[in-house]
Amino acid sequence: MRYFEALAKASDRVDYRELGKTTLGAPFIALVISSPQNLKRLDYYRLNNASLADPRGFRTSRAAREAVHNGKTIVLITSSIHSTEVGGHLTPVALAYRLATDTSAATREILDNVILWLVPSQNPDGVTIVARWYNRTLGTSAEGTSPPELYHHYTGHDNNRDWYAFTQVETQLTVDSLYNVWHPQIVHDIHQMGSQGARLFLPPYLDPVEPNIDPLLIDGVNALGSDMAWDLAAQGKTGISINSTYDAWTPARAYQHYHGAVRILSETASGDLASPVDIPFDRLEARARGYNPRERSWNFTNPWRGGRWTIRDIVSYQTEGAYALLEHAAKQRERWLSTFLTVEWRAVRGWREWPYAYVIPARQDSVALSALLGILRRGGVEIRRALQSFTVQGQRHAAGSYVIVLRQPYASFAKTLLEVQRYPDRRQYPGGPPERPYDVTAHTLPLLMGLTALAANDSLRVPLSGPIVPRAIAPVPRLDDDTPRVGLYKSYDASMDEGWTRWVFDTWKVPYTSLVDSVVRNGKLKEQFDVIVLPDQSPQELLKGLPPRYPAPYSGGLGSEGSEALRQFVVDGGTLVALNEASRFAIQALLLPVRNVLEAVGDEDFYAPGSIFRLELDTANDIGRGLPRETIGWFQGGPAFEVLDSSVARVIGRWPSDPDRVLLSGWVLHPERVAGKAAIVEVQQGTGRVILFGLRPQYRGQSIVTYPLLFNSLKN
Ligand SMILES: [Zn+2]
Repeated sequence: MRYFEALAKASDRVDYRELGKTTLGAPFIALVISSPQNLKRLDYYRLNNASLADPRGFRTSRAAREAVHNGKTIVLITSSIHSTEVGGHLTPVALAYRLATDTSAATREILDNVILWLVPSQNPDGVTIVARWYNRTLGTSAEGTSPPELYHHYTGHDNNRDWYAFTQVETQLTVDSLYNVWHPQIVHDIHQMGSQGARLFLPPYLDPVEPNIDPLLIDGVNALGSDMAWDLAAQGKTGISINSTYDAWTPARAYQHYHGAVRILSETASGDLASPVDIPFDRLEARARGYNPRERSWNFTNPWRGGRWTIRDIVSYQTEGAYALLEHAAKQRERWLSTFLTVEWRAVRGWREWPYAYVIPARQDSVALSALLGILRRGGVEIRRALQSFTVQGQRHAAGSYVIVLRQPYASFAKTLLEVQRYPDRRQYPGGPPERPYDVTAHTLPLLMGLTALAANDSLRVPLSGPIVPRAIAPVPRLDDDTPRVGLYKSYDASMDEGWTRWVFDTWKVPYTSLVDSVVRNGKLKEQFDVIVLPDQSPQELLKGLPPRYPAPYSGGLGSEGSEALRQFVVDGGTLVALNEASRFAIQALLLPVRNVLEAVGDEDFYAPGSIFRLELDTANDIGRGLPRETIGWFQGGPAFEVLDSSVARVIGRWPSDPDRVLLSGWVLHPERVAGKAAIVEVQQGTGRVILFGLRPQYRGQSIVTYPLLFNSLKN
């Protein structure tokens, strides 16, 4: 930060801004870089660009053409959101210095034609966490390992899955002060991947591409990514793959694609944090997604020969990649601006096959409704209210209902989040195992939040208000009287679900204490806690934890001592709540009379990589109390249960017995494997109990409708 401040002071091409504070209270900063003349007229360019972002304000097509002609390409570069991808901490330094000092014609052309917003770190807290760990372990057996904690306080690596839910302050700052003010045409997101494949990935992405993204943006992604790859190859860089590994399905990573911009993801091969690695050619992966790192192909034209790979290599690939992107953005300035204008024009006119609008009834759970409308609003969506009652497809709606007309600049953002996903059935070969999506397959917010949103196919015959600002309603404290003592297990092999659970507890004011391995292993847990929650984590990770190369107290996991202590806690009258994969651990460690019917079932025989299922609840039971009898469950690689002894185990929630009714949104193969199986089970043991979840009730801070299942489990 001191460097960037000094650079801004020394250069008339660089301005330094603090946008706000991070989760842990550090400054969250951005630089704006352009020619001195452009920086003096920033307000003019911002307004000019905003007129292209919402072309409804143009009176003539000539005015629109002039705005394109007079504008600058707005580029946003975000780096090091993932803090162990440490090249991304340094690349912004090298890039900013070059742009501030270089006198070449190419750099002048960039500065004249581009306004660059550079976020040197999308997660500054993580830079500190990783740098401290790296320096502390340098020269020890743990050198180059990931730190024994999440590098984002709440979300860890999931921090780049927050670009529609906007749960974290870092996401909010970038969306509120950069995206929604500057409306970039090009966003470059700098990442790193594993060390054994290509040296660099650039778009085009793999299929599937999420169907609501304007096709012209995908053309732009394809052209710009390929152009950068060509440029870097011409500099002699090898091992560049395009159209591999990464698909473009989830909006969780791609705010840009719904706001008129292209997302250029770059993924450079990693070292061991900042320490070099040696990778002989024959240790490169023999088969990667979409290419072979040892073989030349159309999308991997010049393989890397293997050898030493250093932080300098990483920073060089990243810096040259970003520079190539900026050169393209400068040379093709008018083309990018006119693409931006075309995309927004089409959005405002509407796509013929889309519904006319979504109608969201106003009388629904107020906290969930406030969350949904807040997301749409933050995403730039115009929300209106019906001024009279009206009928859509035979259904009556009251005056005051919320209406999202899908003829507005960011209609695709609203439609994507409000509709049901039908993820394409993709196989590795015909009839073969499924092809894994890069992330999850569903993002239908009304389902996740327990709300109704109806598509209206034809124009509505009702007067509408102007755009409104929805009322923000804070979550209410959940555990009012007789608050139990809750322990939340926190593995040093950091689990993102643990972080999300903490976020939900902090946001909904659930008091808890974090529990590390040594505390669990010491036993006497019932004296300290009434309830212990095990977040989603595999049995292996829970038991073994981090490997012995980590210093004490970080290696070793729960071990047999920890398992025994948890069993004793339950026998003594405690409640153990196990989420998703942790349920498999609980079944094994406590010898519960419950069987996971998916244990050892291969992907060919059952597959649901992050989907929304229909869930049937026993609402007479305390855990299901207050929920609808039929709700949803976020299914992601979890177990499905069969009760072996119904005298001690009882089913609280089940997947529907009709396989065709299991899936609500996303993708599932062979739903008959889980149809009729238990999703939530309560098992008595001694004077205590274990509650097993075969779902993620607090998935990434989004599945608000199933939070009460978790909260109810905490009550005595
Ligand atoms: Zn990354």
